[in-house]
Amino acid sequence: MGKCKVLIVGGTGYIGRRLAKASLAQGHETYILHRPEISGDIDKVEILMSFKMQGAHLVPGSFKDFNSLVEAVKLVDVVICAISGVHIRSHQILLQLKLVEAIKEAGNVKRFLPSEFGMDPGKLIDTAMEPGKVTLDEKMVVRKAIEEAGIPFTYVSANCFAGYFLGGLCQFGKILPSRDVVIIHGDGNKKAIYNNEDDIATYAIKTIDDPRTLNKTIYISPPKNILSQREVVQTWEKLIGKELQKITLSKEDFLDSMKVLDYAQQVGISHYNDVCYEGCLTKFKIGDEEEASKLYPEVKYTTVEDYLKRYV
Ligand code: NDP
Repeated sequence: MGKCKVLIVGGTGYIGRRLAKASLAQGHETYILHRPEISGDIDKVEILMSFKMQGAHLVPGSFKDFNSLVEAVKLVDVVICAISGVHIRSHQILLQLKLVEAIKEAGNVKRFLPSEFGMDPGKLIDTAMEPGKVTLDEKMVVRKAIEEAGIPFTYVSANCFAGYFLGGLCQFGKILPSRDVVIIHGDGNKKAIYNNEDDIATYAIKTIDDPRTLNKTIYISPPKNILSQREVVQTWEKLIGKELQKITLSKEDFLDSMKVLDYAQQVGISHYNDVCYEGCLTKFKIGDEEEASKLYPEVKYTTVEDYLKRYV
């Protein structure tokens, strides 16, 4: 039996383009939804063309045309959705309800991976801070629809995207590491989990035809990447051979800064509060059978130190 066929929805996006790359790299016949709405966006069209040159099939389809979604879904065994869910860019998590309907109608899909790839809403919805909780709430709405429709699924909980969190040494609003002064959130000792986005995509594609991950949440929590902000900063200091000045930012002052921010930034602040001040990602235990680096030891994941080397 050949490898399963994969449809990527949101294939030009930040994580979606890495999922498409990983699907091709792992030898899957890869289909990418090509929305007519993007035809004026040269960067997106270029990304799609580059995937086409690497052997991907571009499938015309739009969320405004239900039948086009059904037809696209009928071409494959596995659907992976990477639709946007970051308020500062665009937040379209609930649009997936249409995709769930299309998968139900098509009736042929053996696995669906919805747009998750962050903190696990199943575990964290009750403690998530407002207004960022909306992301988790909406992902739970999509999960409910998937499960009620009886669609086989895998939820990939990817913890922190390295580009967003490690790049700025876990400082809110920064994506490049400081060289002189670093803001430390609280005591800086709460542990979080950081993953190279390409590794996230590699692991996600590994799950799609693995019976061990059917109807489960899989966590990408490789042991070497579970670090506190202070440990991340120390790793960086070692790489650049210099100690940074540390300024502590209390939780109260951090949350106070929310008042002058717009809604999208407030959502970001509340996610950072949950991760950096509350340590939400490491508050619960998971089993080896739920953790990607244990399930797929053959994947050589990028450590925090190796990731940070790109900024030296
Ligand atoms: P992007 O903002 O990069 O957008 C992804 C894709 O969504 C776009 O490329 C586009 O697909 C599609 N899209 C956007 N608007 C529409 C629309 N109106 N109709 C149809 N499709 C649309 O998304 P991200 O990669 O940042 O986010 C993907 C997931 O990752 C989300 O669930 C998010 O919550 C999560 N995430 C996790 C982070 C973490 O640190 N763990 C950080 C950031 C995101 P097309 O290619 O067709 O144009």
